[in-house]
Amino acid sequence: MIDKHSRKISYLRVSVTDLCNLRCVYCMPAGGSVLSSKEEILSLEEILKLIKHGVSLGVNKIRITGGEPLVRKGITSLIRRISEISGINDIALTTNGVYLKEYAAVLKKSGLSRLNISLDTMREDRFAEITRGGNIADVFDGVEAVLKAGFRGTKMNAVIMRGDNDDEIHDFVKYIMERDIELRFIELMASGWKDMVDEDRFMPTSEIMERVLEVGELVPDKQRVGGGPATIYRIKGALGSIGFISAVSKPFCKTCNRLRLTSDGKLRSCLLSGGDVDIKSILRSSNLGEKEMQDKLTEAFIRATDMKPVVHSGRNSAVMNQIGG
Ligand code: SAM
Ligand code: SF4
Repeated sequence: MIDKHSRKISYLRVSVTDLCNLRCVYCMPAGGSVLSSKEEILSLEEILKLIKHGVSLGVNKIRITGGEPLVRKGITSLIRRISEISGINDIALTTNGVYLKEYAAVLKKSGLSRLNISLDTMREDRFAEITRGGNIADVFDGVEAVLKAGFRGTKMNAVIMRGDNDDEIHDFVKYIMERDIELRFIELMASGWKDMVDEDRFMPTSEIMERVLEVGELVPDKQRVGGGPATIYRIKGALGSIGFISAVSKPFCKTCNRLRLTSDGKLRSCLLSGGDVDIKSILRSSNLGEKEMQDKLTEAFIRATDMKPVVHSGRNSAVMNQIGG
């Protein structure tokens, strides 16, 4: 699939649930979001069928996200079945890390390639505040379990918010000095839930980088140039590396190669702008023969690809727990 701006689409991000065990202040309302009913959410078989269809059209990389993907029943068997699809060479999962202590080894066995763990603070009290009740020890234990299980290329995503956690930038860097983890500083984005993200808390990559430079010199990692939206650097003496994702101040749309499948069955062209296609209604239409269904699914993938904007309009916002961030 090639979009109207000559970008080749090979990456599908799949949100398997809108449920979450945490309530991060920038992502979900305190009382939780209005959740889709069980019937509205795609079944594992439906997800698998859509992934296979995507692969037949050129998708070779999958990311599983949510909500919190590890709360979805059957998640490890879904991953195993995805890993058996010929043509897929990378399956990653984004998680808040709370359940990794129990899941890391089985995820490895299931064929998962890589993990992104979201962690916005190194402090117990702050973690409880940002996530509205989480226990940071679970995440630290989860990170160690992932390293012990033998995963390579583990990433840690930290959203930096002025006045909330920007005083911890040095602590994050120290954390990866002795751990083989790619720490990625992420700019805060507007949330689709109204009034949850206040603009004063936004901190651009340029400022975050200045703080990192106080710890040590950053050297661009030549082997990693062009590998996804982050610019990756090495810092002297560190086992880990550091990346910056500037989705707001410097959108990486030019190299965007992805489509998103939401948990309620929409194929979305872009996280922040563009449109979406209701692919679930095609999957569930009982009056289509197999060939007709395959043709309609192909048409849906192509329509979503064609909707991809050349660049997102940064002021828009997304309901992250539904789309998957
Ligand atoms: N629950 C999983 C997790 O937290 O990793 C996966 C889903 S979560 C929506 C995916 C990513 O979106 C997380 O790294 C989270 O920090 C990020 N995210 C959510 N809301 C955000 C916002 N307003 N700005 C920037 N990143 C956000
Ligand atoms: Fe849950 Fe992830 Fe959203 Fe936090 S960022 S509320 S962990 S979905």
